[in-house]
Amino acid sequence: MTSFASKTFCRVEKLCHHLPVVLNTFLVFSITGEVSYLVMVEAPLEPDQKKTIWSSRWKTAHLISQYFMLINICWNAMLFIKTSPSIRGVFLGGEGMGQGWRYCYNCETHTPPRCSHCYDCKVCVLRRDHHCVFFGQCVGFRNYRYFLSCLLFMWSGLLYATLMNAEVFLVILKEGVTVHSVLLLLIPWIMLISGQVSPRAFAFAFIADTCVVGFLLVSAFFFFHLVLMFRGQTTREWYSSRRPYSLGVMGNLYHTLGLRWYVCWLCPLIPSPLPGDGISFQVTGSLEPAR
Ligand SMILES: [Zn+2]
Ligand SMILES: [Zn+2]
Repeated sequence: MTSFASKTFCRVEKLCHHLPVVLNTFLVFSITGEVSYLVMVEAPLEPDQKKTIWSSRWKTAHLISQYFMLINICWNAMLFIKTSPSIRGVFLGGEGMGQGWRYCYNCETHTPPRCSHCYDCKVCVLRRDHHCVFFGQCVGFRNYRYFLSCLLFMWSGLLYATLMNAEVFLVILKEGVTVHSVLLLLIPWIMLISGQVSPRAFAFAFIADTCVVGFLLVSAFFFFHLVLMFRGQTTREWYSSRRPYSLGVMGNLYHTLGLRWYVCWLCPLIPSPLPGDGISFQVTGSLEPAR
């Protein structure tokens, strides 16, 4: 009975671990599908609305940019998950242990500066930034580039999808900015429950809402991490108001995105080796938290 319970618990834990990835994938593909449909069919929500005639070249340009963003999101996300930033299989070396080195009682080893233990991944992570719950993986030294590129394309994709869905908002707001129309925008389920609109129009409104909420969330994450990258900080260092490893804007870009920092974000296939090893870092400021 105990083994059955522990097996069930393990299965539920695994399912919960993968759930955010499955949900994210579903949302990304749903949004891309809906926007592709808007471009291809230019479907108005109501029969009396005019269809816009788009040239086939214009449609092709839209579709190419959409799928370029989609491929980049999926590819970067896949590489982000596959590229573990943990200390597993890394020779940390014991000699020259100095400032910033600690002992991790969970991993039973000495760990270098900027490395910290993740209780979700159950391992120490090099230059750990944070544990990303959406991908179930830590953001650290080796996969920071893929994390940032994925955020960049999610941000641009959601901005694009929000603009493409502007017509949906206009249809909802045609009665003016009333409590009812604002509620419909914020909680599209009301439309379905009250039987005011068809399930098709509800689906459009739902995806349009998801785009706006997603865009606001991703914008906050993306710009926060851009600032951190330019400042050469991890989230942890930002919380403690420390910048001991900042190498100037160009140096920070180079050490975060690698040798080809100016172009590598365009495609995950572009090789951009990182100059450091994630173990030793040049100290340029005080290691003590600012008061
Ligand atoms: Zn550890
Ligand atoms: Zn983690």
